[in-house]
Amino acid sequence: MKSVLAEWYGPNDEEIGEFLANATIALDANVLLALYRVNDAQRKQVLDVLTRVSSRLWVPHQAALEYQRNRLGVAADQQKAHDAVASIASERVTEVLSTAVTTLTELCAEAVGEVRDREIRSAIEEQFTMTVSSLEAVLTERQLAMQNKFHELRRTHTIDFADARNADPIRAALDALITDDRVGEKPDAETLETRKKKAQTRIDAKIPPGYKDANKDDATGDCLIWFELLDHARKSTRPILFVTDDAKEDSYQRVRGQIVGPRVELRAEMANEAKQPYHQTTLDGFVRLANRHLKTAVPEDTIATLERSRVEANRAGREVRGRLRDIRMIMHPDGFMTPAGLVEVLGDGYRSGESLLISLTNPATIAALGVLIGDVVVVRIDKEGMYEILGPVLDVRTGEEREFTMPERCPACETPVVVSATPKGRPGWRCPNEECAPKRQRDQLED
Ligand SMILES: [Zn+2]
Repeated sequence: MKSVLAEWYGPNDEEIGEFLANATIALDANVLLALYRVNDAQRKQVLDVLTRVSSRLWVPHQAALEYQRNRLGVAADQQKAHDAVASIASERVTEVLSTAVTTLTELCAEAVGEVRDREIRSAIEEQFTMTVSSLEAVLTERQLAMQNKFHELRRTHTIDFADARNADPIRAALDALITDDRVGEKPDAETLETRKKKAQTRIDAKIPPGYKDANKDDATGDCLIWFELLDHARKSTRPILFVTDDAKEDSYQRVRGQIVGPRVELRAEMANEAKQPYHQTTLDGFVRLANRHLKTAVPEDTIATLERSRVEANRAGREVRGRLRDIRMIMHPDGFMTPAGLVEVLGDGYRSGESLLISLTNPATIAALGVLIGDVVVVRIDKEGMYEILGPVLDVRTGEEREFTMPERCPACETPVVVSATPKGRPGWRCPNEECAPKRQRDQLED
């Protein structure tokens, strides 16, 4: 059975060792771009591994082109993500400070309200004033220190956008490693046109790889790379180990969400067309295999960072389906409450089985989306890792779903909810009970 259905048999440990020792190691654009998402030291470790196999490295022309196109965007995204964390941290410290000052001021008024003696009153007030000013001093100093640290981290951990434009050190390192003869030949216009047509036919027929990109502007990229890999294997008469972080189901075979190897169709096509073995792995997987078979010593920490960054890069812009189990109130420290969908992710892909709490802003948003509690909804994950409910999947409704209404009483303390303008001037739903509001946010999110 094994030789008749060979494509169903993944390489064993010994065969993987053969790939590491003899195969052409082909790199996808996303692998080159992954180097922008790790710090200097980690990048050097990965480049050292690639240097070990430099005589067998190869980058398809289409992958090299996609790398050049996306390099600046990835560098800019990295900086943006970094800056977002820094500014959120700073805002939170300001919020904590202002809540503390308000609480202490109220407490002080309450304390002195009972006291008739002027001397005692001023002593109490003095104590509160001192507490407020030392809090301000400490938190402001910490805020500044945090900002400085974030700036320092940004300098050492991301490539400055201006640097990337003019003298990109990562591109320089890659240029030294991937010399011109290690890049696929640029196809002439006619060849490219023919390949694109062939690619489109495959995409329409859902033949891997690349059909998952069907709604991209140019969906043929993955397929063009695949044609180059087939060609290269045929001409070089070497097996191919393709390193790609694109973990879509049209490229990797998954069982219950876990990557188990390339799609069997790819292995079969490579065997038929080029008479060569084919294997495929992610960059973190490749580094792990190199540690094992080439005796490199990249720390587990670096491999974990590569893996995390791959998962993040893959989920950006992705959509998952989930069951909207409930709509709950998120209580804010100022007493305002906003609805959020409790969504259980369906399927066997990213975060399946997990429950996500996704903001739905206000009842008007929920009405505009037309979602009902119990609906299957489409959730999109953006580059910053934020979730958004896009809308219900109407054709799987059962009739059991129910409409959402804002609660009339505070879910925390049962005080009747009042509707008033938010600090931003929009209509807002608020629990007027001063005893309730500030501490509720934490309790609510924990259950
Ligand atoms: Zn309340």
